[in-house]
Amino acid sequence: MVKKIKDDQKNEFSDKYQKLIELINNKNNTVIKYPEYKNAYDYVERKFPGQNVLNVTVYKVRKSDLEASDYAGVGGLYVPGKRAVIVSDIPSGGSVSTHARKVISARLAIDEVIVHELLHYVSHKFYRTHDVMMEEEFAYGNSVPYLLAKGHSEENIIRYNMLPFLYSTINSQKLIRKILEERNIKPSIYSLYLRKHKAGSAESYMLKAIKSIQDELHERTIAAATKKGQFIVDNYRIVPDGEENDSDNEYDLEI
Ligand SMILES: [Zn+2]
Repeated sequence: MVKKIKDDQKNEFSDKYQKLIELINNKNNTVIKYPEYKNAYDYVERKFPGQNVLNVTVYKVRKSDLEASDYAGVGGLYVPGKRAVIVSDIPSGGSVSTHARKVISARLAIDEVIVHELLHYVSHKFYRTHDVMMEEEFAYGNSVPYLLAKGHSEENIIRYNMLPFLYSTINSQKLIRKILEERNIKPSIYSLYLRKHKAGSAESYMLKAIKSIQDELHERTIAAATKKGQFIVDNYRIVPDGEENDSDNEYDLEI
């Protein structure tokens, strides 16, 4: 059983990997090499010197080709094992569908996506972490000084750079349980409403309750994700000399 799961993962990985290799070889790509996007390259090189960052090739891939390769909505990718990263020709940091049936999209310039992906390159090559949250915190966090230097406010960095990712990291089951508890609604009742909704037989008061709960879930997910973003910004922004960085207090994931 264990072996089977491992084999499946391996196959899935190779299939995905194959698609990445096909993507970087796509003839529609624009190939970017240093000193194009010099500021982005120089920033990551200065931050992590001696890691060959200036030799990484950036493949600017057409959005439609990304979509055809099952990478719809992706703004950038790191290609493990290659000195290569991929960015979409339509810059984006991805987007996420929310609990309130809306979409939160990132607003990023290509150089900003390049910085993020070059940071993934550094992190994969030298830190070998396989924890998605740690990986992303490394890339988002180490981008912060670059984005601040470009004149983005902390608020906008969190909203337009980090939020689509952070939103998806908030545990919605835990939050739903909390909201139901506060509203004195039994989880079994809520499940019943959802089942009826799915079957198309929910009464209007049930639909109203579902909408209200999901709207609250959305608002609280935004709040929790924003708090997480502020935590990352606080930990990675450059602290001027002589000032204490008071941000190394425990991050509390409770909402
Ligand atoms: Zn990333």
